[in-house]
Amino acid sequence: MQPKPSIVHLPVYQPGKPVEDVKRELGLSEVIKLASNENPYGASPKAKEAIAREIENTSIYPDGAAVQLTAALARRYGVKPEQIIFGAGSDEIILMITRAFLSPGDETIMAESTFPQYKHNAQIENAVIIEVPLKEGTHDLFSMLHKVTDKTKIIWVCNPNNPTGTIVTADELEWFLSKVPASVMVVLDEAYCEYIEDPSFPDGLEVLKKYPNVITLRTFSKIYGLASLRIGYAIGRPELIRSINQVREPFNTSRFGQAAALAALEDQSFIDSCRRANLEGLRTLRAAFDRLGLESFPAYGNFIMVDVRRPAMEVFDELLRKGVIVRAGHRGYPNHIRITVGNPEQNGKVIAALESVLQEAKV
Ligand SMILES: *Cc1c(COP(=O)(O)O)cnc(C)c1O
Repeated sequence: MQPKPSIVHLPVYQPGKPVEDVKRELGLSEVIKLASNENPYGASPKAKEAIAREIENTSIYPDGAAVQLTAALARRYGVKPEQIIFGAGSDEIILMITRAFLSPGDETIMAESTFPQYKHNAQIENAVIIEVPLKEGTHDLFSMLHKVTDKTKIIWVCNPNNPTGTIVTADELEWFLSKVPASVMVVLDEAYCEYIEDPSFPDGLEVLKKYPNVITLRTFSKIYGLASLRIGYAIGRPELIRSINQVREPFNTSRFGQAAALAALEDQSFIDSCRRANLEGLRTLRAAFDRLGLESFPAYGNFIMVDVRRPAMEVFDELLRKGVIVRAGHRGYPNHIRITVGNPEQNGKVIAALESVLQEAKV
């Protein structure tokens, strides 16, 4: 029995190491995980209360169309309900988009390195993957545009880019979209947009008013702190959203995810405080890197990628032994590690651990 050829060589996704595993394997009592861009402040208490209330309905299927949550989000962003679809995380939306739009042989363009799920899912559909190297850690929209052919179906723009944390600006995106043929879908993945105050950052929802070939992806996993509940969404023009809906599993998001997301949307002060704390955390980390003489990419989300000037996997292992989990092993970045911005205590720990690892390397 053979699986389909397009998946034979696919790796199984390797998540950031769980805290519990590291504690057990290394006999550590305290471990912090700054590897998966989770919110160090957790979720809004209102979201947690909503989950508790929903427990009574555990045996009842969720509303597959997430009608209430869709209506709330439509109101919030001034779009029509038909423009919104929810997924089990935006990961699932990426899967559904490729399933609905990519046929074998279609071309799809993305940066290298960027969020791995675009490539992973496009490979499963037997699409032709065109990867365009980042330029100084940033999407090279000019080169990406020049890869467009009459076979191009989807272009992925991760903004800010994971893992580098850089953005394409509103002006750059506008230039790009004005040149991309209207028949090519541009997926703007804005998983971290709520963290950003910089006025040059484009608002994907404004962008898609002008460019109906754009789909914007967002998630409740990052600033909203609901990663375990698996709920994310796409906003786009109704015909595109309908096509994605045709391949959606009937009950793809849970009652808990929907209820928590609905409550989380109503607690804007929690989001504002997380955004401010994150900006402060970024400043702290940058100041420490300056002091240590380390260069990092301009970071806009809740993570920062820094050049540790040593093999990143070694630094990863040594940080792990000090009870700090980060991310390393990004293609094209053998000396960079990606650190999620933690709370002040966690940031202090990762800085101290990194400093001592780099110090030990010198002697
Ligand atoms: C975390 C992340 C996602 C997916 O998050 P979900 O938990 O599946 O909603 C999507 N895109 C990027 C760039 C991410 O970093």
